[in-house]
Amino acid sequence: MSSKKTVIVYQRALKPALQERLERECHVLDFSQTTDLTRNSEFHKALSQAHGLIGSSVNLTPELLDQAPNLEVVSSISVGVDNYDIDYLSKRGIVLCHTPDVLTETTADTAFLLILASARRAVEMAEMVKKGEWTGGVAEPHFGVDVQGKKLGIVGMGRIGAAIARRGKFGFNMSVSYHNRSRHEDFERELCADWKALDDLLHDSDFVCVTVPLSDATRHMFGKREFELMGKDTIFVNIARGGVVDEPAMIEALKNNTIRAAGLDVFDVEPLPADSPLAHMDNVVALPHIGSATHETRYAMAELAVENALAVLKGEKPRAPYNWDALKR
Ligand code: NAP
Repeated sequence: MSSKKTVIVYQRALKPALQERLERECHVLDFSQTTDLTRNSEFHKALSQAHGLIGSSVNLTPELLDQAPNLEVVSSISVGVDNYDIDYLSKRGIVLCHTPDVLTETTADTAFLLILASARRAVEMAEMVKKGEWTGGVAEPHFGVDVQGKKLGIVGMGRIGAAIARRGKFGFNMSVSYHNRSRHEDFERELCADWKALDDLLHDSDFVCVTVPLSDATRHMFGKREFELMGKDTIFVNIARGGVVDEPAMIEALKNNTIRAAGLDVFDVEPLPADSPLAHMDNVVALPHIGSATHETRYAMAELAVENALAVLKGEKPRAPYNWDALKR
């Protein structure tokens, strides 16, 4: 019998070089192509042997993970860890790893894509060309608004928020304010950024960009009241998680022109149902959760996830553990 530890790869297939690297040291069970994973009986059987899990975007509940008595590491191919019950994992001594930093710049690019596309109505205008409806000079009803020189408000000034702010400050001469629970004086110095109370930031910004993790504290952080505070000229960009927004309230705000527009990479339910109003509104740019989805960045994320898992399985501290300090060991 092999003495290698068993690792399940789920939801995201690894590139051959990474798969081979993992297979050199582990027995790999590949469930990357399995749909409806949590109901799959083979997956349940595999859990009973698993020492490690590598994947993302699946809600790994305690009930599911109770079936994996040997589990040492859950290595998420994501920076967000809202799919995991961190207290449960920590109590069981299971290391949760994630992939910060390697996706920061690419995700900030996507946020800026949403800022520009929403301000200049790029998707709506491109659709007009595709449909053959560009029949004359574009006049005021189709004008957008400037991005350069405007006020950018970042809610959640961490790795990605700061990378978005740098693009705004140094690329587009925007003034930057931010809201976090704690002040970050290094960002304030670097970006001449002002910390503001949330209500003040929402009231004062031309662009509100959300980059907080989804947690009990941030769920539905943006509802009717917050959209009213933003006002009719504000563009709202969510690159974080759908759950930070009360989606029906946002839809109402967009329908009633309480805010100007929204650029959205994330939604309450993903994939976004085809009958969602958000898929059909002219003042919404909706992307299918592609924040980090480039060849280079997805490879770097998967590579870090593999390295994290291998380190834990060898008894070493991984590069990016999430719950290291909370572990009961
Ligand atoms: P990060 O460096 O931890 O930054 C998050 C920031 O949010 C921190 O500065 C934190 O500051 C602030 N924050 C946390 N809770 C808050 C609260 N209740 N109120 C106000 N501010 C709060 O994380 P990151 O690497 O930038 O990633 C951020 C999130 O982006 C991830 O968790 C993930 O959900 C999302 N994301 C999405 C995509 C995509 O594909 N769309 C890709 C990557 C990441 P304080 O602790 O000082 O409050």
